[in-house]
Amino acid sequence: MYKSVVSITKGSDAEKLVHEALSLLGGVENLIKPNSSVVVKPNAGHWFPPETSVCTSPAVVSAVIKELRKAKPKEIILAESAAIGADTMKCLEISGIGKAAEEAGVDKILDIKSAKDLIKIPIRDAKSDLKRILLPRFIIEADHIINVPIFKPNMCTLFTCALKNLKGLVQDKVHYEMHATSLTNAMIDLCSVAKVDLNIIDMIRPAEGFGPHCTLPIDFGCIVAGRDPVAVDSTICRMVGIDIKDVQYLEQARERGLGNYDENSIEIRGKTINQVFKELWIPFLGGFTKYPEYHIYSEYACSSCQSLMGYTMERLKAQDEYDKNAGISIVFGRKKSLPVGVKAGKNLILVGDCVKKYRDQGIWIAGCPPIEPFPIYGILDRIPMVTTEQGAALRPRNDADIPKLNKYMYQEKEKRNRIAKGKNN
Ligand code: SF4
Repeated sequence: MYKSVVSITKGSDAEKLVHEALSLLGGVENLIKPNSSVVVKPNAGHWFPPETSVCTSPAVVSAVIKELRKAKPKEIILAESAAIGADTMKCLEISGIGKAAEEAGVDKILDIKSAKDLIKIPIRDAKSDLKRILLPRFIIEADHIINVPIFKPNMCTLFTCALKNLKGLVQDKVHYEMHATSLTNAMIDLCSVAKVDLNIIDMIRPAEGFGPHCTLPIDFGCIVAGRDPVAVDSTICRMVGIDIKDVQYLEQARERGLGNYDENSIEIRGKTINQVFKELWIPFLGGFTKYPEYHIYSEYACSSCQSLMGYTMERLKAQDEYDKNAGISIVFGRKKSLPVGVKAGKNLILVGDCVKKYRDQGIWIAGCPPIEPFPIYGILDRIPMVTTEQGAALRPRNDADIPKLNKYMYQEKEKRNRIAKGKNN
């Protein structure tokens, strides 16, 4: 029986861990053809420094480039397309990834968003509304695509790792189209055309918490690698205590022939799952009924706005503002009309570009999805949040508020641990 191979290494030295992980898969010289072109895709989707674990750690990106160099490729390109509306080069700079890649000897750093030479690829048996996808020629023609994400939580989809990181291969226009259809189906459609050769996951200091918008970094000390992204993602679920049954897109990916998630179809090399197991705190949104003091209309919203608003509700609690703003209506997601009974005015918060057409009737928060601090300050100040200048002006206030959120997250994590302990006693 064919098995997908996944390697797990443990320690703290990124270069040693990456080398060992690839050796367990047969060695970099057997994985990468000499004289080939190699595209390395990290997660540098947001504008956060390395200590936040929002982006792949610069040390892991550097280690991967140095290891790939041993196979004597013709060129190594680091490529990224940051989140919608985010400046990729700025994200690469602030995350430290750009500098680390340069120092490790990368040949080029390319912003996928500014690529002009794009190829239209039809998607066979598309499950989303995407019938074709535009990808830069240098990605399509690369001999190898190496996926280098960090593991982090996502309140809506539970986590972001190998499969989800490939969303950063497309430009904003396609990214928008993916949001406007079923995002997980679109993600699987994209993975079916952008085939990755190797996934190397940064589990050295991944994150837990209200992701992807707010993370608590945690020392885990592992690198996980494999050719099969479904096997890699499901192995990491088992390493951190996520029930595979709760991650629906793994089955969608398996059906599509992208890989295996069944334990019997995966061969683990290096450390065993038991040897590295550490349960992470991955809060799951599971709908908005848990915020009954608010009127939340989230129908037809994609996971990005749902997790953003889940995070915003928790942030209101963390900043002691939840009760003070109770009773307001929050509307997001694609709507043919405003929900019945919703009253226009300052207590109507309209979140995202989907509801732009109703902006005269309430407080509109622009973006697809909006940037993280927009919804909370739109709610607190009751003013529309629209321009990038507003985003920049909010940064100091946001930085001052984040410690309250971090403190709250530690309290919530402690609460969860106490409950779990009580159950086990
Ligand atoms: S505005 Fe929000 S719900 Fe609408 S498409 Fe964009 S991310 Fe999805």
